[in-house]
Amino acid sequence: MELVFVCPETNAVFNSADYAIMDNNGIRTDPQGRKYMDAAVLLTTPCPSCGRIHRYDVGELSCPFGS
Ligand SMILES: [Zn+2]
Repeated sequence: MELVFVCPETNAVFNSADYAIMDNNGIRTDPQGRKYMDAAVLLTTPCPSCGRIHRYDVGELSCPFGS
């Protein structure tokens, strides 16, 4: 499944299916009672915009992982 990422260096938007789920702590509930997935997504190929490997919190992504 491709996800949409935003490069934190250049703000370029790109799709990638090359990522790994890291630090998966499952579903948590925030102080407002909303459920979210406590995990991180690590790119496994370099960002097409800046060439670096980025790491994102799942909550930063536009993908509706936890819902
Ligand atoms: Zn980048």
